[in-house]
Amino acid sequence: MSSRVRVLVLNSALGPLDYRVPHGMTVEPGSIVVAPLGPRQLLGVVWEPERMPSDAEVGDNRLRPLLGVADAPPLPDALRRLIEWTADYYLAPPAAVVRMALSSTSALEGARTVTEYRVTGHVPDRLTPQRAQALERIGDRQGLIRELATMADVSDAVIRGLVKNGAIEGVEVDIDSPFPLPDPDHHRPALSEDQRTAADILVAGVTAHSFQPVLLDGVTGSGKTEVYFEAVAQAIAEGRQVLVLLPEIALTEPFLKRFHDRFGCEPVAWHSGLRSSQRRRAWRAIASGQGLVTVGARSALFLPYRNLGLIVVDEAHETSFKQEDGVHYHARDVAVMRGKFEPCPVILASATPAIETRQQVALGRYTEVKLPGRFGPAQMPTIEAIDLIQNPPERGRWIAPKLVAAMKDVLEKREQSLLYLNRRGYAPLTLCRTCGHRFQCPNCTAWMVEHRLVRRLACHHCGHVLPTPRACPECDGEDTLVACGPGVERIADEATALFPEAKIAVVTSDTIWSPAKAAEFVGRMEAGDIDIVVGTQLITKGYHFPNLTLVGVIDADLGLDGGDLRAAERTFQQIRQVSGRAGRGAKPGHVFIQTHSPKAQVMQALVTGDAEAFYTAETEARRDADAPPFGRYAAIIVSSEDQGAAQSAANMIARAAPKVDGMHVFGPAPAPLAMLRGRHRFRLLVHARRALAVQDVIREWLGELEWSAKVRVAVDVDPYSF
Ligand code: ADP
Ligand code: ZN
Repeated sequence: MSSRVRVLVLNSALGPLDYRVPHGMTVEPGSIVVAPLGPRQLLGVVWEPERMPSDAEVGDNRLRPLLGVADAPPLPDALRRLIEWTADYYLAPPAAVVRMALSSTSALEGARTVTEYRVTGHVPDRLTPQRAQALERIGDRQGLIRELATMADVSDAVIRGLVKNGAIEGVEVDIDSPFPLPDPDHHRPALSEDQRTAADILVAGVTAHSFQPVLLDGVTGSGKTEVYFEAVAQAIAEGRQVLVLLPEIALTEPFLKRFHDRFGCEPVAWHSGLRSSQRRRAWRAIASGQGLVTVGARSALFLPYRNLGLIVVDEAHETSFKQEDGVHYHARDVAVMRGKFEPCPVILASATPAIETRQQVALGRYTEVKLPGRFGPAQMPTIEAIDLIQNPPERGRWIAPKLVAAMKDVLEKREQSLLYLNRRGYAPLTLCRTCGHRFQCPNCTAWMVEHRLVRRLACHHCGHVLPTPRACPECDGEDTLVACGPGVERIADEATALFPEAKIAVVTSDTIWSPAKAAEFVGRMEAGDIDIVVGTQLITKGYHFPNLTLVGVIDADLGLDGGDLRAAERTFQQIRQVSGRAGRGAKPGHVFIQTHSPKAQVMQALVTGDAEAFYTAETEARRDADAPPFGRYAAIIVSSEDQGAAQSAANMIARAAPKVDGMHVFGPAPAPLAMLRGRHRFRLLVHARRALAVQDVIREWLGELEWSAKVRVAVDVDPYSF
C-alpha cells in the first residue's frame, strides 16, 4: 500500500492532513495514530483520501512520518461514515466530531491495568481536620488521585499525603476484565396480546439485519421497555451489540435495575459521571465487541461498536437529546443515521413523539408500532383543569383549594402525590421592595434564582452563585428583599405548611445529581417513605411508582410564554408525561392541571386525552408557518465578550447573505439569551424550504467571510427553538 496516508488530527481548526507511514508500521482506514503537528503530538484517525479532501497539499518529500499506532481496533467504517455525515450535516469540523468518538483517549494507552486509590479504614494517629473530612467525603468510593481530590474538594497533595500515611491505598484495576454477558432468557415476562404483536415486529426487524427506523408509540405505562427488551434479547441471542440511549443520567439507575431483572446482569454504562478507569474499560469492551449492551447518554452514539444489531432511543421526544454546545447535534437524528450506516434497526420509543417523528411516519419513512393501552389493570388517569381565575389559591399560595383537598384525600389513603413545577429553586426572581433592585447574573441575561435549601442565589445558565444577601446592595434596605413567584422549594414549603405530618421530597437536578441519588429516591418512594414529591421535569420521565395516584401541575401555562413555535408541543409533551406518572398500578390516578387558560387547545387536548386532535392541529399550524418538519431552520449564533465586535460581525454576515430562492434570512437580533457566560450573542435565523441544501449554502456563505479573532460563529442546524 502507499506510504502516504490522510489523517484527521484532533485539532478542530484543521481538516485532514497527509503523513508518511514509516517502514514497519501498518495502518488502514480507521487506524488510530499519533501524528506530529508543529511541536506537538496529536491523536488522529486515518481516513480514505477520496472521502476527505486534504487541508494542505504537501509534496511527498516534505511529509512528516507518523509516530505510532494505538493499541486499539481501527474505527469501524460505519462510525467513520457517521462522523462524515455529522460534520457535513451540522456544519461542524470533522475533527470535533472525531473527538467524541475518541472521548476516552486514555483507552488507547497500552496498559492493561490502572492504579486507583481507596480508603483503607486504617486511621493515622494525628489527622488534620481537613484530612479527616477528605476521608469522610470519599467514603467507600475509589478512583485516581485526581478523582478522589475532586470528590473530597481538596488538592491532589492532600490525597498523596493520606496515601503516605496509610489512610488511603492503591489498588490495581484490570481495565480489560470482560463485562458479564446478558442472558436473553434470564426472566422473560409473559406479554399481553398487544405487547406480543408489537414485540414480534421489533424482533423481526433485528433478525433482518437491515436499516429500519421504528416509532414505538405507546401510552405511559403500556410497557414499552418490556417490549423493546424483546428486540434487545434477540440481538443478544445473535451475539450482536445493542445501544440504548437515555435522555438523562438520573434515569440510568432505575433502568440498570430493570435491565438486571430481565437479563441477569448490568449492561455497560456510558455517561459523563464515569471514572476514567470505567471509561477505559467500557470503550475497550465496546470496541472489541465484548460489551454487548451499552446504555448511555447521547455521546454513546459515537463509540466504536463492532457489530451493532440494534439502537433504541428511549423517551425519544426528550429535548436533552439535542446538544446545544460544541457540535450542535440531535442525538435522535444521529441515531437514525448510525442505524442506516450499520445497517440495523432503530427504535424510537415515546408516549409523546415529536411532530418531526410523526411526520416521518406519515411519509412512510418510519414504521409505526403502537401500544394503545396501559399494561394490566392500570387505566389512564382522569385529567381535570383547575381554572386559576375562577378558583384561585389563597393569597401568597400556589396550590388551589381543589388540589389541596385532593392531596388531603390521597394522604389519608396512604397513597402518594406529585406536584410538578418546571422551575428549580425557591423563587425565580428576588426583588427589593423599596428600591426595585433585581438580582441579575453578571454574565448572562438571566435573573439569579434563590435556592433556599443551600442559602444561595444561582444563575441557571452559567453557574454563577452568591450567598443569599441579607440587605439590598442598592439601597441597603434590610428585610426589604422579597421572593417573587414560586420554584419547587417554595411549593414544598407550602405543602409542608398544609400537611405538617407528611413526608415531602424535592426532586430536581439539585437534589438528584447522581445515579446513586436517583436510586436512593426510588428506594424511598417504593418503601412508602415519601408522601409528596415536588419536582421539575426530571420527575416526568421513566419512573414507575404504583402507589402514586395524584399529580398536580402547578403552572401549566409556564412553558407557553415566550412565543417559541414549539411551546405548545413542549407543554403537551411535558404535561402528558407527568400525568403519566399517576395511577400506573391497580389504583386509579387523577391529574389536576392549574391554568389561566383552560380553553386553550393544548389544555383541552390534555383534559380529553385526545392526542390525535392536538397533533393534527399542531401539525397544521406548522404547515401554515412552513416551520419544521415542513420548512427548515438554521441559526447562526455570533458571540463575543466584546458586544460591538459581535454586533458588527453579525451585521457583516447578514450583509453577505446570498440571495437564494426558497431561503430567507432574519436578523441579526439579540439571541434568546442575549448574554451567556459573559459573551454577547446575536442570532441570524435562516429559514429554508426543506428541499434546499441549506448546509451547502451556509458553508459557502460563511466560508468566504472573515471576522475578528474575538468573535465566535456557531451554526445550529435544526435548532430546538425557532
Ligand atoms: P412505559 O415505558 O410504556 O411507560 P413500562 O415499560 O415502564 O411502561 O411498564 C410499566 C410497568 O408495567 C412496569 O413496571 C413494567 O415492569 C410493567 N410491565 C409492563 N409489561 C409487563 C409484562 N408483560 N409483564 C409484567 N410486567 C409488565
Ligand atoms: Zn449566568
